[in-house]
Amino acid sequence: MSTERVLNFGAGPSALPLSVLEEAQKGLVNFNGTGIGIAEISHRSKEFQAFLDDFEKNIRTQLGVPPTHRILFTQGGGTSQFSAVVLNLLARHRLLHPTATAEETVLDYVVTGSWSKKAAEEARRLAAGNATVRTVVDSRVYSKDGKSFDNIPPHAEFTFSDDPALIYYCENETVDGVEFSHDPQSPASFPFHLLKRDALVPLVADYSSSFMCRPIPHLADHAVIYAGAQKNIGPAGLTILIVRQDCIVDVDAAAKLGVTPVPLILSYKTLADSGSLYNTPSVLPIYMAGLVLQRMKEKGGLPYYEETNRRKAQKLYAIIHEGEQKGVFRRKVQQGSESWMNAVFEVLGEGAEKKFLEGAEKEGMKGLKGHRSVCVRVSLYNAVTEEEVDKLIAYMTRFLGES
Ligand code: PLP
Repeated sequence: MSTERVLNFGAGPSALPLSVLEEAQKGLVNFNGTGIGIAEISHRSKEFQAFLDDFEKNIRTQLGVPPTHRILFTQGGGTSQFSAVVLNLLARHRLLHPTATAEETVLDYVVTGSWSKKAAEEARRLAAGNATVRTVVDSRVYSKDGKSFDNIPPHAEFTFSDDPALIYYCENETVDGVEFSHDPQSPASFPFHLLKRDALVPLVADYSSSFMCRPIPHLADHAVIYAGAQKNIGPAGLTILIVRQDCIVDVDAAAKLGVTPVPLILSYKTLADSGSLYNTPSVLPIYMAGLVLQRMKEKGGLPYYEETNRRKAQKLYAIIHEGEQKGVFRRKVQQGSESWMNAVFEVLGEGAEKKFLEGAEKEGMKGLKGHRSVCVRVSLYNAVTEEEVDKLIAYMTRFLGES
């Protein structure tokens, strides 16, 4: 068996730092000196509890999560949160407005890519009869070809409902390579200034593919932020939630007022009341994500990653742009809306994409084939180092020279 590791530019599950994998190997046999492997130890042991507390503290400190918000851990991935946010926030809304009709109970969805579209579809399933799902904006309307997710629409196109039960957006669309800019001056930033400030805003964000790659703008204004671990911070199987306290509600009291009962395992109150240990948590992914967070702290935390990720993305888009000038590459996403984490582009010409991917693979670079609806996709998650990006860029430069 080869022990050689390739450069993994896959979209997820994605690369993890080698030092973490090596540390985790030791933990699999003997977790923190207990003599028991991490996959064997009780999740109620004091050693695991101490590790979990430290993990939570590490996320809180590095992201600057205020005391108004709880950090919760669960399973089921981002997909389970497509359902959970709807059920929990409908329960919250019903407790605030016990007599609201289905027409008066509105869920606002910002649709900028495949994942937010999927989340809105799940909301429509779950809210049927109880609430109305509204598309705030659908970015396909503003696309170059009228059908692709290739942009963040202009601020003026965002019209939020008066008193919605939730406002949903996906910060980084992994498949389409579209992301909200974090520069408030950019037209592709999220229009936080358009949100009503007279009550706590029920703003929900899917950060599955951009969690911990840079700070979260307006974090304190969010009701729920969630992310699966498997892009930036660990293996699949762990889902991280940042939930504002007013969204942790008595779902059974809401059910008595007529909303859909919330399965206990999806209820934020269940998770909060049990310290995220209502049932057996995903112990091994938590452990590995905890090691990643420790490593992040040692390297300088989010400022370090933000700077590195900015440089990685800038360099990559520069070479894609160069290829575009030469008629070899074509960017899929409109300028200003490009993702830092997932860059998508076409390699133009008969058989050219295949040649590009095969050439990369020969040089030990894998995971570059995009989702079936896109072309080439380079994922630049935290574990992908700047040196690895430089190697890819050197390959792309050679490819351009030979094209
Ligand atoms: N949201 C985004 C932005 C994603 O990239 C993904 C998966 O890639 C999901 C949600 C779904 O997550 P999961 O596969 O963990 O259910």
